[in-house]
Amino acid sequence: VLFMLRLAWQHEPLLVATLAGVSAGVVLGTALSFANLSPLALDVIGLPGDLLMRTLKMLVLPLITASVMAGVCALRQSTADMGKVARYTLLYYFTTTMGAVVLGIIIVNVVRPGRGSPFDQLEPSGDGAEGAGAGGCHAANKQTVAKHAAAAGQHSPAEAFLGVIKSAFPDNVFAAAASMNVLGIITVSLLMGAALSSLGAPAAPFIELINIFNDAIGKIVNWVIWTSPVGIASLITTSICRACNLAATLAALGLFVLAVLLGLALWGFIILPAIYYVTTRRNPGQVYRGFSQAMATAFGTDSSNATLPITMRSAVALGCDPRIVQFFLPLGTTVNMNGTALYEAVTVIFIAQAHGVVLGAAGTVIVALTATLAAVGAAGIPSAGLVTMLMVLQAVELDQFAGDIAIILAVDWFLDRCRTVVNVLGDSFGTASPWVIIDHHARKWVVGPRPDAAAA
Ligand code: ASP
Repeated sequence: VLFMLRLAWQHEPLLVATLAGVSAGVVLGTALSFANLSPLALDVIGLPGDLLMRTLKMLVLPLITASVMAGVCALRQSTADMGKVARYTLLYYFTTTMGAVVLGIIIVNVVRPGRGSPFDQLEPSGDGAEGAGAGGCHAANKQTVAKHAAAAGQHSPAEAFLGVIKSAFPDNVFAAAASMNVLGIITVSLLMGAALSSLGAPAAPFIELINIFNDAIGKIVNWVIWTSPVGIASLITTSICRACNLAATLAALGLFVLAVLLGLALWGFIILPAIYYVTTRRNPGQVYRGFSQAMATAFGTDSSNATLPITMRSAVALGCDPRIVQFFLPLGTTVNMNGTALYEAVTVIFIAQAHGVVLGAAGTVIVALTATLAAVGAAGIPSAGLVTMLMVLQAVELDQFAGDIAIILAVDWFLDRCRTVVNVLGDSFGTASPWVIIDHHARKWVVGPRPDAAAA
């Protein structure tokens, strides 16, 4: 074992360090959760994780702006590829998100985690019943849900859809940047990239500047990555320590957690790689290896936005065409969320089951469509999927059960991490395949060193 470890350390030190970080987080978190640490102590243990999150988030806006602009310019300069890539991108996002939702619906109907009304065992019967089971946690969770519901404004699905479209067209660039309106920033950058490349020669120095800026951010990401194992360990430790009454919630929500994990695992580790293999005839194992750092970071940070710098770096290191990476990944991080889509469908149908409501075929179709929309609308930040779920609940007239989200919050800290990994995986497989599908003669562009890089 020691020999194997040494070998792995020599060849993949970063991967070994990251896996060690994840394991250390799980072990430390489990051990410390018995120690009843004070909030201050938890804050201190969580500091490296906090700093990692803050640094990654700080990088996201400049990264998206520069890389989308550079990506559009590069694509437009290279013949008519832009249209093909855009078509492929949209087709890929839509079909995989829908596929994940359908899988979720099948699984939740087969496993039926809502049988036996598990919520009756958990739900505090009144204000006085808070002491029992996970009740204390529910009080806090209920407040969080009320806050989310207020923030979501209880919009109808139609209003929410209009909201997503409007946010893609910000009326103030600085306000969009300050409020982290990623979709809006992407539109502005797309327009700017298209405009710059249509200006021709006079714009060349500016485009070069953007490329240099892009490279500089890549450098910073590189530095951050080498410190990330410590941050990931810290993030996982504190989130295990902060989890509410694990045993009680698991007893009641165990089947639900199982159904979600089964769906995510099937999608992320069986179906996605199968699609990849069928369309590209390439070994999906390379994609997992190449994006392992991104997957670990997604699990640690709970946010595909925060993971974006690492996903992009992994894609380029794997040999994916940088022009595709720069265009596909920033957009996919916000719009393409396979894991979240699956989760929304499973959870809403689970809530219906837990209250004995039969959704029927029409209801199920509405869940499928609104879950897809909710996943598109969810930002790549922790728990975003839980907020947009209110929309799905409302679409099938289950919003009187919105309070149930408080119970689900008890396990969401964990499920959120798992679905974020699948969100990132969906983007990763998508980035690794386009050239093979778009142009069969360009197979050499995908996975493995690019021909010009190898020659250099
Ligand atoms: N945390 C997820 C992500 O960043 C979004 C969600 O809550 O589903 O991808």
